[in-house]
Amino acid sequence: VKQQGGNHYSFYTPASDNELSERIDLEVALRYALERDEFQLYYQPQVSLKTGNIVGAEALIRWKHPQKGMISPMKFIPIAEENGLIEPIGEWVLHQACQDSKGWRSQGLGSLRVAVNLSGRQFRTPNLRQKLVQILLSTGCEPDYLELELTESLLIRDAELSIQQLQALKALGLKIAIDDFGTGYSSLNYLQKFPFDVLKIDQCFVRNLHTNKINVAITKSLISMAHLLNLKVIAEGVETQEELQILDEFNCDEIQGYLFSRPLSLEDFKAFVKSGTQL
Ligand code: C2E
Ligand code: CA
Ligand code: CA
Ligand code: CA
Repeated sequence: VKQQGGNHYSFYTPASDNELSERIDLEVALRYALERDEFQLYYQPQVSLKTGNIVGAEALIRWKHPQKGMISPMKFIPIAEENGLIEPIGEWVLHQACQDSKGWRSQGLGSLRVAVNLSGRQFRTPNLRQKLVQILLSTGCEPDYLELELTESLLIRDAELSIQQLQALKALGLKIAIDDFGTGYSSLNYLQKFPFDVLKIDQCFVRNLHTNKINVAITKSLISMAHLLNLKVIAEGVETQEELQILDEFNCDEIQGYLFSRPLSLEDFKAFVKSGTQL
C-alpha cells in the first residue's frame, strides 16, 4: 500500500509494480556502474556576455547503461542519494572534472574553469574537504579553477552548519555557486548570509523572457541584487536570441544553454573550444 497522506491508502496498480521493479533493476545496475566504467562527464560551455568567449564549463554526468542506453541523472542521482552510492560517484565526478579541467589549461585551451554539481549527502560528508584536497593535489588542478554548485534546499536544512562547511571549502581557494536560484526558499536573507561567489538563475525564469513579464521582472531584480552582493551571475537554459538579448541588457555576466551549445563529450568540448566559436 502507498500512503497518500492522511488516512487514505491505495493499492499498487500494475504500473507502480513495474516502476518498483524498474527502480530495483536500476539500483542493482548502479552498484556496478562505477567499476564497469559506465559513467562519463559531459561539459556544457559557459560564455561571458562581455567578451563572447568560453570561460568555463559545467560538468554533467551521463550513465550509459549496457542495455537501457543513456539514463538521465535526474533519474539515477536521486537513487544514488538515497542508497549512499552518491559518495563514490560524486568523488569520481570531482576527480574526473578536476583532471579534465587541468588538461584544458595544460593543453593550451585557455584558462577554463570547471563547475561540479554537489549533492546534499556529498556536501554533508564529514571528510569532503580532505577528499577535495587529495583530488586537487593528485590532479594538479588549481583550486581557483574549480566551482562547486549547490542548491538552496540542500543548504537551508542546517544553515549554520552549511555556512561553516562552505567557509571550510572556500578556504581551499575554490568558488561556490548557488544553483537553480529562485526555485526554493530564495530568501534574500540567505543570499546575504551564505558565502557564495556565483548565482545561477534557474532556467524557469530564463524561459520566454521576451514574452513573460513576470520572468523579466524576477530576472532583472535577481541580477541587480546579486551584483549588489558582489556575486557573478550565470543564466542557465538560454535557448533563444531573444532571451540572450534581455539577459545582456540586464548585465548578466555569463550564460549557459542550448543556444550556444548543448553539453558535449570531453572530445567534442575540446574541439568546440579549439574551433574558437564565440557568442
Ligand atoms: P542542473 O545542475 O540544473 O543542470 C542543468 C541541466 O539543464 C542539465 O541537465 C543540462 O543538460 C540542461 N540544460 C542545459 N542547457 C539547457 C537548455 O538550454 N535548455 C534545456 N531545456 N535544458 C538545458 P542534465 O545534464 O540532464 O542534468 C540534470 C540534473 O542532474 C542537473 O541539473 C543536476 O541537478 C543533476 N546532475 C547532473 N550531473 C550531476 C553530477 O555530476 N552530480 C550531481 N550530484 N548531480 C548532477
Ligand atoms: Ca548545476
Ligand atoms: Ca541548475
Ligand atoms: Ca552587457
